[in-house]
Amino acid sequence: MPLTIPIYQPSLLGNEKKYVNECLDSTWISSKGRFIAEFEGAFSAYTGMRYAATVSNGTAALHLALLALGIGPGDEVIVPTLTYIASVNAITYTGATPVFVDALMDTWQMDPADVRRRLTSRTRAIMAVHLYGHPCDMHALKGIADKHGLFLIEDCAEAFGARIGETHVGGFGHIGAYSFYGNKTVTTGEGGMVVTNDEALYERVVHLRGQGLAKHRHYWHDVVGFNYRMTNICAAIGLAQLERAEDLLAAKREIAQWYKEALSETPMQLHAEAVGYTHSYWMCSVLVPEAPVRDPMRERLESAGIETRPLFYPVHTMPMYGQHSRRHPVAEDIGRRGINLPSWPGLSRTEVRGVAECIQSCLS
Ligand SMILES: *Cc1c(COP(=O)(O)O)cnc(C)c1O
Repeated sequence: MPLTIPIYQPSLLGNEKKYVNECLDSTWISSKGRFIAEFEGAFSAYTGMRYAATVSNGTAALHLALLALGIGPGDEVIVPTLTYIASVNAITYTGATPVFVDALMDTWQMDPADVRRRLTSRTRAIMAVHLYGHPCDMHALKGIADKHGLFLIEDCAEAFGARIGETHVGGFGHIGAYSFYGNKTVTTGEGGMVVTNDEALYERVVHLRGQGLAKHRHYWHDVVGFNYRMTNICAAIGLAQLERAEDLLAAKREIAQWYKEALSETPMQLHAEAVGYTHSYWMCSVLVPEAPVRDPMRERLESAGIETRPLFYPVHTMPMYGQHSRRHPVAEDIGRRGINLPSWPGLSRTEVRGVAECIQSCLS
């Protein structure tokens, strides 16, 4: 039976087509063109960051952020184990060693107390990942970073629109990375952005993004760089998406509220917004009361035409990262009990009720 409620699909109802056609008509389809600078400008204005640099995807954004800070072999970077694999792989690409920390049960974000326990003389940076759109405790993490002279990197891939007070994620650390993959809140198909308030870091990111090209001299390269550029076509889509950012975020908040109401009589635990934080609800995620319920529930939902995903498997449980790792019981528990429910912005209230009814019938 075909799935009738997908977990995600992008909403491309604004100027996306118009701007892409402009790229095609003008032949500016590569990584030069007006939309690159316009998307960067609009993104930095929206998030309140001084500098924003488009890149080819979110993983490249993280890689460049780490390289711009000078992270490399011999360094340790503290990262939550409960994250998407790209956060950790980007650290490995630089030659540095990822050091895993556990999650907090209430917000599912990295545990600052565990960060303190994992500090060594080789620790150079902390990578905060705002998982599923809820901000990390950035005040605690910034306190640790400042006290120990560490860099603070923010993986904002899942957290476009998330804030603490009025400050958008990406504005607490030295440098931040966003992703615009097809299921992210703002999408360009594939794409990413590095954000920072530090001009020197921004310059380094732009330099490394474009093959380490020296200024004012054609074909002269003074470092080993990368081709991590975004195309004008992707930036055109991104600019059109950004024009609708408020609507996309509002739709997601409303869907999360519908799930909250529809599941309020059940023992399902929603990924709740902590006081003082703005959750951007990239995904509407829930925990089942007992781990053995999870997979049968996902199968029941699938046979009812409802697509779901498990939460991420903690990275320290994967073969290439498991060798030296200790247990991380909270992250393991969340990973075993979590389900991402359909979360795309066009979802209707009736569809959300249908998902909730199916969950209720599984539990009874
Ligand atoms: C999506 C994502 C990334 C990577 O982004 P890509 O654009 O897919 O390369 C990095 N970190 C997290 C937490 C993500 O969810």
